[in-house]
Amino acid sequence: MESMFLTATFWGWCVTVELISFKGKYSFMMYLFLRPVSKSLSIVALIVGLSSCASKDVSEEPSVPSLVGKNTGYGETSINGPVPQNPEMRLSSDFSRMSATSISSGSRSRKLIALTFDDGPNPSHTPRLLDMLRRRNVKATFYVTGERAANHPDIIRRIVSEGHEIGNHTWTHPNLKKLSDDRVRRELNKTRDAIVNACGVQPRTMRPPYGSMYQKQREWVYREYGYPIVLWDVDPLDWKKPGPSVVAQRLISGTRNGSILLVHDLHGSSVDAMPQTIDTLLRKGYQFVTVSQLIAQKSVAAR
Ligand SMILES: [Zn+2]
Repeated sequence: MESMFLTATFWGWCVTVELISFKGKYSFMMYLFLRPVSKSLSIVALIVGLSSCASKDVSEEPSVPSLVGKNTGYGETSINGPVPQNPEMRLSSDFSRMSATSISSGSRSRKLIALTFDDGPNPSHTPRLLDMLRRRNVKATFYVTGERAANHPDIIRRIVSEGHEIGNHTWTHPNLKKLSDDRVRRELNKTRDAIVNACGVQPRTMRPPYGSMYQKQREWVYREYGYPIVLWDVDPLDWKKPGPSVVAQRLISGTRNGSILLVHDLHGSSVDAMPQTIDTLLRKGYQFVTVSQLIAQKSVAAR
């Protein structure tokens, strides 16, 4: 653009000078005829010069991050056009009358599904996941480990303040079948306390790491903590990192009414799969609810 500006300006001036020299050599009538032409050329040169200056200024503006407004520190996978929105789900989340100790899906009679994220929060992936969910008005359920919750209380607060639910996923992510009841209790207590310290809200459900828990353990945990043991019915094996489009395809093809989808927000590629997964499921008419809402609807359907 700079060379265009210089060329145009130079050209304009050359023509002007040339035309002025005409004045002495030729008749006054000729001068009168050519004078407006020379002026027009100068104006064109000026306009081209100014517009190139303007675009030059914009492109070279220093990129100083603004302290207010949109946070551009992390990006979302790009999406063309507007994204579909989950409707406002004003459903009860009171499952106190629910009788089952374990749950791996909700009622199959409605297109309600629950998206669950395990093993976070992760400081780089969970915040951008929250951006994706907020943009689509999707509320999810996060099964966090206590250790990570204690390390990232700010993310725990953000999860809760944006309407998501938090569940207990133990402190050190052990196979609970290998632990004594006391050890299980310590895992659950420490995690519950870290969550409450971070956001002031008690977890209402739990998910055993690897889904591994004896029936007897499930029963005493449900009795003692009131936590239903929440498993899943759609597992894309995203922890093996097959790539975002494979994760999305597995989630989409596995989902049916009442499904609980298992994803790990610990992995960037799993989070990258979310825009495609959520948008496709919304277009298929599914509505996203939290696990508590899904359980409460199931107990409503069962009554
Ligand atoms: Zn886990």
